[in-house]
Amino acid sequence: MNPAEAVALVTGANKGLGKEIARQLGAQGVFVLLGARDRERGQRAEAELKGQGLKVQYVPLDVVDPQSVEQAAQQVDKQFGRLDILVNNAGIALDWFPPSELDTEALKKTYETNVFGVFRVTKAMLPLLKRSKAGRIVNMSSALGSLAFHTDGMFKDANRLLAYCSSKAALNAITVAFAKELRNTSIKVNSANPGYTATDMNQNQGPKTVEQGARTPVRLALLGDDGPTGGNFSDEGVVPW
Ligand code: NAP
Repeated sequence: MNPAEAVALVTGANKGLGKEIARQLGAQGVFVLLGARDRERGQRAEAELKGQGLKVQYVPLDVVDPQSVEQAAQQVDKQFGRLDILVNNAGIALDWFPPSELDTEALKKTYETNVFGVFRVTKAMLPLLKRSKAGRIVNMSSALGSLAFHTDGMFKDANRLLAYCSSKAALNAITVAFAKELRNTSIKVNSANPGYTATDMNQNQGPKTVEQGARTPVRLALLGDDGPTGGNFSDEGVVPW
């Protein structure tokens, strides 16, 4: 659909990749709702992007809080009556150590945001996405969520971040399941891998800039009707599950 007529919601849009995805979508003319759990941080991002001439609006949204998610869905419904693009971007990484040092609470906390949060927001927004001419759901995944890379690829010898990596593998399963359920609709659901990008999540260690990291999620958010669904993509192409 014409980006200038589209309405998008990006979760965790107050900084990092989420804010840059919002900026790049906004630059294409999309009206972008900036989901953020903290009012001040959300409003600051809104002011910054509005200052660049973009159509954006802060929406209170804590993905782990069912009431907050429901209220955000009600607000989008009231204001627009539909949603064209959902980018499930909000995520956390807590366990920068081997699996044996991970405790169940940190595992649960990670899943609460990266898995249950994505599922909760997707379910709440689905009725609105079904009213779009061409709904797009982009789930922010990671190469670290690829079991193929862990067993026989670039992470064969790495063994940290069990909670984070497995949460992204579960998120990929959510992508596949919703894509299958929605395959006879105009909604497309894909996982996006930004690549290792300098943000607060990794103390700005990643070699990619947010401008570069946002490219694949933005491309998937603006996919044409002939684009794929149920896939896992990076700038380099298809990422193995
Ligand atoms: P970031 O700079 O730490 O940003 C994370 C964002 O998520 C922040 O806006 C944060 O809000 C928000 N968030 C966390 N918990 C939330 C919640 N419960 N409700 C709403 N928002 C919440 O990290 P990032 O690197 O931009 O990561 C964005 C996404 O890309 C994540 O899903 C991450 O897993 C994925 N990713 C990143 C990389 C990378 O190299 N950076 C690589 C692969 C995938 P606050 O400011 O309030 O904390």
